[in-house]
Amino acid sequence: MRMGGYKRQILLFVLAILLPAAVVIGLAARLIHQEGELVSKRTADERHQATEQLRREFTARLEAIRLQEINRLIRSPRPRWTEAPENPAIVLIARVEGDRVVLPWESGAQPPQPSSSQYARYRQEGELREFLKKDYPAAVAAYRQALASARDQTESADARLLLARTLAKAGDAAEAVRNFLTLLKEGGDARDEQGVAYRLYAAECLEEMKREPEAVLSFLLDQVNPGRWLTLPEIVTIRSLLASIPGSQDEQARASLSRRAAEMEQATALAAGFPRVRAQIESAPSSGPVWIPYGEETWLIAVTPPAPPLPALMMAVSSAKAAPPGAKLGGRRLQGDALGENFPGLRVEWPANRFAAGGGRGSPVALYVAGFGLVLGLTLLGGYLLLRDVNRDVRVAQVRSQFVASVSHELKTPLTSIRMFAETLSLGRCRDERAQAEYLETIVNESERLARLVDNVLDFSKIEQGKKIYRLRPTSLAAVADSAARTMQYPLAQQGFTLRLSIDQNLPSLRADPDALEQAILNLLTNAMKYSGDSREIDLLLASRNGDAVIEVTDRGLGIALDEQKHVFEKFYRARSHESHLIAGTGLGLTLVAHIAKAHGGRVEVRSAPGAGSTFSILIPVEVQG
Ligand code: ADP
Repeated sequence: MRMGGYKRQILLFVLAILLPAAVVIGLAARLIHQEGELVSKRTADERHQATEQLRREFTARLEAIRLQEINRLIRSPRPRWTEAPENPAIVLIARVEGDRVVLPWESGAQPPQPSSSQYARYRQEGELREFLKKDYPAAVAAYRQALASARDQTESADARLLLARTLAKAGDAAEAVRNFLTLLKEGGDARDEQGVAYRLYAAECLEEMKREPEAVLSFLLDQVNPGRWLTLPEIVTIRSLLASIPGSQDEQARASLSRRAAEMEQATALAAGFPRVRAQIESAPSSGPVWIPYGEETWLIAVTPPAPPLPALMMAVSSAKAAPPGAKLGGRRLQGDALGENFPGLRVEWPANRFAAGGGRGSPVALYVAGFGLVLGLTLLGGYLLLRDVNRDVRVAQVRSQFVASVSHELKTPLTSIRMFAETLSLGRCRDERAQAEYLETIVNESERLARLVDNVLDFSKIEQGKKIYRLRPTSLAAVADSAARTMQYPLAQQGFTLRLSIDQNLPSLRADPDALEQAILNLLTNAMKYSGDSREIDLLLASRNGDAVIEVTDRGLGIALDEQKHVFEKFYRARSHESHLIAGTGLGLTLVAHIAKAHGGRVEVRSAPGAGSTFSILIPVEVQG
């Protein structure tokens, strides 16, 4: 029958809790899945739209940059590719000659022209005097003549550098510095055959002489400005000069120099690989202007056909500077979407969270998961509580029916003997007067026992309903104990028990309910008799200990296992040992004892060992009693 109960409970749990919970989870999973698909579709749509828009905007922007630069070059009276382009996004503009690209610093350099014979003569003479004869004043004079006969900027810069250097050697530092400064200011773009500007030599010499540091520094910083093309040897020289000038640890200038060096290298590589890039541009299926991604830093390269007076031009635009913020552009190694036929090989990568946020709609998946988690959690909690309640009800019902059985059983024993003796007497079968008196005494005793049993049950039910009232009044404990002992005298004697009384007559009187206390003592004595086994000795002791009045009942019977001792005061509890289970009982006696002790501000204790007997003590504090 118990098994049937479990089965019903499991069935109930499955049908009422698990099944609906599983359905809820299933629905939730479906909903979340659908929502996920919807979100990813929406994200893909948004991404596609953003890429489309970027393509349109970017095409227009690049076209604007290109036209702006071409217009500037056409308008300028003498187009010079070596100047800074107007738009900072342009990294490089170079002339295209056949299959070759002429880089800006190459186009600036004059093809080595035969220098004028007069200039060459003076220069040679100066060098002769300077290096062979070490006749510096004479060398200075020769270089001055060379300077006077210089025909172009390169010659005059060359002559002035030689002149200034020799002046320094000749010991005329002031004049040397003056000439270096003139060269620094007026040297223009003139470069020697190594591709190094003469002005940079002047700066280097001034730095060595430790003269005019401000002029040198401002010259160097000016060189670092974007738009000025430097050759690689120049970049190296400027970097070491900047490092050696105190107070010029300008991080920005350094970073910009490194960037320039990287740009130079990329530009050189681009010039070398130009035929391939051009072929790519020409093979693109697009009708409009085509931009090809190139290099680590991703430049976008376009080629503009010749438009007199301009020759064909190659233009490189930095994708990082031209792209709208947020989008990252790059070549094929990027994961993102292709940008269409105008940009073969160019891809755009969007920041990871750009579309996930969904324009403020937020991702409801987490919300759903949390919601369903909550519903599920509550359902399971409800199920658990329901099961716990059902279990408790089942247990209570079991305990009740057990209780009814044991009460009936307990009532039946005294009733049977009362009836038996009463019948014997009424039928007049017993003529012996002594025996008659004994029968009558037994009937009285058994009815008293019956009354005690009924009292216990009634008191318990009052306690359960909270209606039990104790009437405290000044009471002599000794009198109560005496009365209880007297009540038990006959049943004890009948079963051959010896009750040893030890009563401290000096106990002060307490405020107590004497009937309740007597009931408690009677319960303890009845238990001592029931659970004495073969032993026939019981002690009842009244004493005063540590400010408590103590009532103690000791037997030498079955005893109680340690782990059960804390349970014996619980309602309906009966020890599990086989021996005590054979003895009839309701499990209420000790519950009442504990309740009565508590009502008097006291407590109960038990000391017991299986086989050695038990001592139950009721301790009632004397102080709290008025
Ligand atoms: P019951 O009607 O079963 O005696 P009680 O509440 O009086 O109910 O006692 C609860 C349980 O405590 C008993 O079933 C018994 O196992 C144990 N018990 C009580 N008194 C003694 C005792 N003097 N010796 C051994 N066991 C006892």
